[in-house]
Amino acid sequence: MPTLSAPTPTATTDALDTTVAALAPDFALRLVAWQRQHGRHALPWQQTRDPYRVWLSEIMLQQTQVTTVLGYYQRFLARFPTVRTLADAHLDEVLAMWQGLGYYSRARNLHRCAQAVRDQHGGEFPRTAAQLAELSGIGRSTAAAIASFCFDERVAILDGNVKRVLGRLLAFDGDLASSAQEKRLWRHAETLLPAAGADMPSYTQGLMDLGASLCATRSPQCLLCPVQGLCEAQRRGVAEQFPIKTRKLKRSRREQWWLWLEHEGRIWLEQRPATGVWAGLWSLPLFDDEAQLLAQAQALAATAPEPLPRVDHALTHFDWVLHPRRLVLERRAEPGPGAWVARDDLARYALPAPLKKLLG
Ligand code: SF4
Repeated sequence: MPTLSAPTPTATTDALDTTVAALAPDFALRLVAWQRQHGRHALPWQQTRDPYRVWLSEIMLQQTQVTTVLGYYQRFLARFPTVRTLADAHLDEVLAMWQGLGYYSRARNLHRCAQAVRDQHGGEFPRTAAQLAELSGIGRSTAAAIASFCFDERVAILDGNVKRVLGRLLAFDGDLASSAQEKRLWRHAETLLPAAGADMPSYTQGLMDLGASLCATRSPQCLLCPVQGLCEAQRRGVAEQFPIKTRKLKRSRREQWWLWLEHEGRIWLEQRPATGVWAGLWSLPLFDDEAQLLAQAQALAATAPEPLPRVDHALTHFDWVLHPRRLVLERRAEPGPGAWVARDDLARYALPAPLKKLLG
């Protein structure tokens, strides 16, 4: 006779489902009311439902503080008031305007995305998160933010701050280093959405605001939180233990030499390849060891280059140690593809932040 056993949870169900469904209406109600009364309203990208402006702010805000983004956002819009003007601009100009925001792949994707909107969507951003997520540089969470802010779509965001809020709210026990567990949390995030599309902008902004303010990584201010009483991690007194994410990024170290060539106030710059670190930016020639640099310097001048203090630069995956060597040339020479750039013209070139600092 066959024996009956309890169904095992599948990828689309788990023990939290009932809890999340019961929590959803109250959670959304409280969050929306709190955002309307206490959340952020005055940021320039909150004064519009134009997907171009919202998209621009969302991309800039990835990995960059609001206070830094404000000035860039205004300057970008002054120069590129529409998605078409951005699409029609030369990539070098976009990269130059992005200088100082870091993570330049965002600027390249921004330009590519604007061109796709111009060429494939008649200059209008698509109106659903699913279509938005097909564009360059727009991930699932960013697509959802744009669609909920601009088109009231009922779709969930799940960036780092939101993972923290929801991870704590549900005392979510899955390790978010695992993509299966992340998917589980996405599913719960979808269940928590408010019933009315009209509430989506306040709800989405509320999650962002809560994660950026009260529900901080360290010492969350649970007593002021609109969802205290619903929050399981707070109830257990273990908020800081969530979300769970075990994987640690492995960092490596890279050491290279920078040849700073100067002639009559001009500096020699080379454009970096289209892929890899600092792709498309302008840099001093880089060498993997000092001997290579000295050989190049010797071919250009009789004097040896002057060693300057090393520059330490931390990137996402590695620590970069750069050793600048400065050589003033008496006679102009062109060591390869590149350009002699007058100091006054440096601002027109997209330079990596540490080089900008070095050249003063
Ligand atoms: Fe975060 Fe505390 Fe609010 Fe829970 S009660 S969501 S831990 S601030």
